[in-house]
Order: sequence, then structure tokens, then C-alpha cells
Amino acid sequence: MTLPALTLYLAAPRGFCAGVDRAIRIVEMALEKWGAPVYVRHEIVHNKFVVDGLRAKGAVFVEELDDCPVDRPVIFSAHGVPKAVPAEAARREMIAVDATCPLVTKVHNEAQRHFENGLQLVMIGHAGHPETVGTMGQLPQGEVLLVETVADVATLDVRDPARLAFITQTTLSVDDTADIAAALKARFPHILAPAHDDICYATTNRQAAVKRISPLIDALLVIGAPNSSNSRRLVEVGRAAGCAYSQLVQRATDIDWRALEGISAVGITAGASAPEVLVNEVIDAFRARFDTRVELVETAQETVEFKVPRVLREPV
Ligand code: SF4
Repeated sequence: MTLPALTLYLAAPRGFCAGVDRAIRIVEMALEKWGAPVYVRHEIVHNKFVVDGLRAKGAVFVEELDDCPVDRPVIFSAHGVPKAVPAEAARREMIAVDATCPLVTKVHNEAQRHFENGLQLVMIGHAGHPETVGTMGQLPQGEVLLVETVADVATLDVRDPARLAFITQTTLSVDDTADIAAALKARFPHILAPAHDDICYATTNRQAAVKRISPLIDALLVIGAPNSSNSRRLVEVGRAAGCAYSQLVQRATDIDWRALEGISAVGITAGASAPEVLVNEVIDAFRARFDTRVELVETAQETVEFKVPRVLREPV
């Protein structure tokens, strides 16, 4: 049987970023160092495949510190936690390892600095996302106001329009965030903006690669989890860049093959928490159904690496 011809445009960079890679290494090293079980507050990164793999090695995922016994190590996820959480772990004299991505910690530090200078903060982010909860939780209640859309800016009730700064979640859409930042600057001309964009290099690079492939393709598949902010933004970026059929899939079994009938070019990318093994699984699924030619579209090269915390590098 002759298979229909299809070109797969494979976006690069895609998949794991340095923060996710570090967070997974932290859990693995903690299991090696202290043995199982090691408790992890929240999914270490938003990917079921990764979480299930670590669970099989002895990690226990919980949502709150109260669910962790005091005599076992606890790890805080890559998204970051409100300040009260490590403080409470210290009060309970628990071994706590912080897997917060250093680029999220950078935003926490920025928020703290502005607070110490007497500024009120506006955070551009998604309500309820753990990173937003963690960043807002660095400062006392009321010191960080959240905006999710341009429309939210018009209704912001600030303490003093002349003493404001804004920060952002690291995994937002670069373009949407630029619009919200412009609305903030238009309404509050004295607002301080981050010196360097808070949206991280990995989010920015993955979105740029999707923008490059979108005009070439009939369909875009983003491999990632429904609760992964950066993966969902890639779907939106694909649609905004002209690829109407942009879908999030967790793995090959999620692909709606009927919707892909008659097409000849598909783009594939993966969110920052999706492992390459799932990308390969999707490529293999295409190879089984199409005469597939894979073309790499590389828009940047990434060399960022983060060290794990010192406590994991020291002997027990
Ligand atoms: S997506 Fe960005 S901020 Fe989030 S873990 Fe990766 S590098 Fe860090």
C-alpha cells in the first residue's frame, strides 16, 4: 500500500528547558541521597509522563506541606512557592529542597526589591497558576495586583499611580504580554518595567520557532500537558501565526487522525515540560500512516544549564 506523502516540520528549540531538566534531576538526586519516599509539593513539572516516571522511582506528589511527614525530605516544584511554604518547612525542621527554576526566583527577587523600595507591584499572569501564586506569595497580601488581559488594566485600583512596577509570569505569550505591558504604560506612565523581559528564554525561543513553521503547515501539534502554561501558549501562538488547526496532545494516542486526512504538512513542537521520548513517539505514529519526511526548523540554539542546590551535591 502506498502511504500518502507528508512533511513534518520539527520546531527547534522544543521540549525540556534548563529549569525543567534541573527540577527532574533534583528529584532523582534526592531519591538517590535519601532513598524513597521523597515528597514533592505539586507536580514537579507539568507533565504526567514525567510525574509518573518519578512516582515509580519513589517520589510522592502532594499539594500541600501538611500532606508531607516531617521526617521525610520535601521538594518544591519548578513553578515556585509562596514564601510562607519554605518558612513553615523550616519551622517544622524538615529537609526542604527548592526546585524553583532560577528564572522564576529572579522574578521573586525583583518583586522583593521593588517592595523594599516602596513600590506596589502589578503582575501579568494567569490566576491560580502555581507560578503566579508563588510569585504573588513573596509579598504581603495586596502588594501584588494581578492582571490577565488588556481589559483588566482599565479596572486596576492602585495605591499610588506614581509608585508602581510590573513583573510577569515567565511562560506567557510574548505578543499578548507586550500588549498588556503597553496598556499598563499608557495608563500609568511612571510604572517601572522589568530591565529584561521576565518571560524566559525557553518560552520565547519555543514561540519564535512556532511562528517560523506556522506559515508552512496545515496543522500544528504541540506535545504538552493541559495544565502546562507554556504549552498552551504555543497552541495560541500557532493559531495567531496562521495555523488554524493547532492542537495540544499529551502523546500519540491523543492525535485525531481523521482531522489530519488529506493534509501534507504538519508542524510538531513540545512544551518545556514535555520529554523528547514523546516527540519521537508522535513522529513514529506519523511514519506508520504517512510517507514522512522530517525537516528540522531551528530558530535558536540553547546552551543554558542550571546547577542543582548544594545540599544535593554534598555527601549525606
Ligand atoms: S519554562 Fe522558563 S521559567 Fe519555566 S522552568 Fe523552563 S526555563 Fe524556567
